[in-house]
Amino acid sequence: IIRIRDLHKSYGDTEVLKGIDMDVYKGEVVVILGPSGSGKSTMLRCVNRLEEPTSGHIYFEDTEITDKKTNINEVRKHVGMVFQNFNLFPHLTAKKNVMIAQEKVLKRSKEEAERIAIEQLQRVGLGDRMDHYPDGLSGGQQQRVAIARALAMNPHVMLFDEATSALDPELVRGVLDVMRELAREGMTMMVVTHEMGFARDVADHVVFMENGVVIERGAPDEVFNNPKSERTRAFIGNIA
Ligand code: ATP
Ligand code: MG
Repeated sequence: IIRIRDLHKSYGDTEVLKGIDMDVYKGEVVVILGPSGSGKSTMLRCVNRLEEPTSGHIYFEDTEITDKKTNINEVRKHVGMVFQNFNLFPHLTAKKNVMIAQEKVLKRSKEEAERIAIEQLQRVGLGDRMDHYPDGLSGGQQQRVAIARALAMNPHVMLFDEATSALDPELVRGVLDVMRELAREGMTMMVVTHEMGFARDVADHVVFMENGVVIERGAPDEVFNNPKSERTRAFIGNIA
């Protein structure tokens, strides 16, 4: 569903991505690990062109995302993204936060948007919090609203960039449970995380990045139990 070929990205003289190749098949969960500054966020942001790649190609389904002629807004309708800091509108309730892009981007009627918002908020376990404003929700609940908002768009793939990193430890679980459930339902996901337990249990493939290159990739069993590269071994050893 996503193919990345020889992706490069530089900021000025600094090359942050140095030729990334990656494939994500339908229904797969790919977890991307790597130290801070290795380029994980930059790569994810290139996939929906929040960053403009310097060179290389990214394909999403039958569309080349990196083709200048591609209408990226059409692509973004199908690519859900969840960030570290939830980016909810503070002046809107949870339900309105989930409705607004449906109405503005997908041109759904208010009634339909509301019906789907209720459905998706129930799905992430917030059926009783729909009329709360973000500041009346815990960080974990806010993040689940952000996930519901992305799901309401019927994405073909979901990108998660450290979705649990800003949360207090006791709130991480609820968000990971929602992500696990999505994976179980067959959602295609690219997940940047430091949650090794999640990577082990849920990933179909684990990719280890460092300094803008992919050092290692494989099934979680291989990468965790028998890493080929010394760098991967050191990283996993430090964090696990
Ligand atoms: P982290 O685990 O800390 O989130 P990361 O793997 O996501 O790290 P990126 O955020 O992709 O890393 O950043 C990779 C490198 O690119 C870093 O060295 C960062 O300083 C640099 N970088 C990112 N965004 C910009 C920017 N807008 N301008 C200049 N340099 C940038
Ligand atoms: Mg990052």
